[in-house]
Amino acid sequence: MNFGLYIVLVMLPSILITGWAALRVRTTYAKWAKVDSGINLDAFDFARRLLDRQGLTDVQIEPTSGQLTDHYDPRGKVLRVSQAVSGGPQLGSYDPSRAAVSIPTGGQPRLSVAAAAVIAHEVGHAVQDRERDPWMTVRMTIVPAVQFGSGVAPWLIIAGVWLNVLGLAWVGLIAFAAAVVFTFVTLPVEIGASGKALAFVSSLGMVGEREIGARDVLKAAAWTYVAAALTALITFLYYLMLIVARRD
Ligand SMILES: [Zn+2]
Repeated sequence: MNFGLYIVLVMLPSILITGWAALRVRTTYAKWAKVDSGINLDAFDFARRLLDRQGLTDVQIEPTSGQLTDHYDPRGKVLRVSQAVSGGPQLGSYDPSRAAVSIPTGGQPRLSVAAAAVIAHEVGHAVQDRERDPWMTVRMTIVPAVQFGSGVAPWLIIAGVWLNVLGLAWVGLIAFAAAVVFTFVTLPVEIGASGKALAFVSSLGMVGEREIGARDVLKAAAWTYVAAALTALITFLYYLMLIVARRD
């Protein structure tokens, strides 16, 4: 094995692609987090309103810690809103003095364009779950194979190539392929949720500049998933190259 080749062909491009996408999502989010959505609701009320409008009254909403850790959990039917999106570390505990002054005062908007976009995207996932979106179903079905594949596969491939037991390496490559498929199946799920999100926010009056902002935030988020799929594919091709080179 040639580690120099691995660094140039896999590690460096992966770091560049992933770093670019992460930077882009951070700067885009920060930009639109300063712009008021014009929707006079806080993050939790906005999430509730969107879910109820879709008939998803059974979906719970919970605060969660971290930056942009917002997600929809299809198993528990829970939509989790991060502190960054809901606007403060004191989320989850009700503070009446804060509630009394939660009308926009010119500082942080009550519900920013960025926060509205992220919440609407997660509601999009909840709708996909109810509609039994085929891509979402495939994605959830292959999770166990992916967890096994992405953990063990590289070792099988490296051991197989090193020991010249190519059968072992091929088994590893097939297992790794499941992980690659997973990252690509994620793309239609994410893009689908963002498409729904844009329809939700524009129906609630986020139009013009604000709709462009929401689109920007969702597009930046989508690029992080594209980056993950590309880096998985690059790694797969490198492993394939190792095995094929060994056979010759
Ligand atoms: Zn998503």
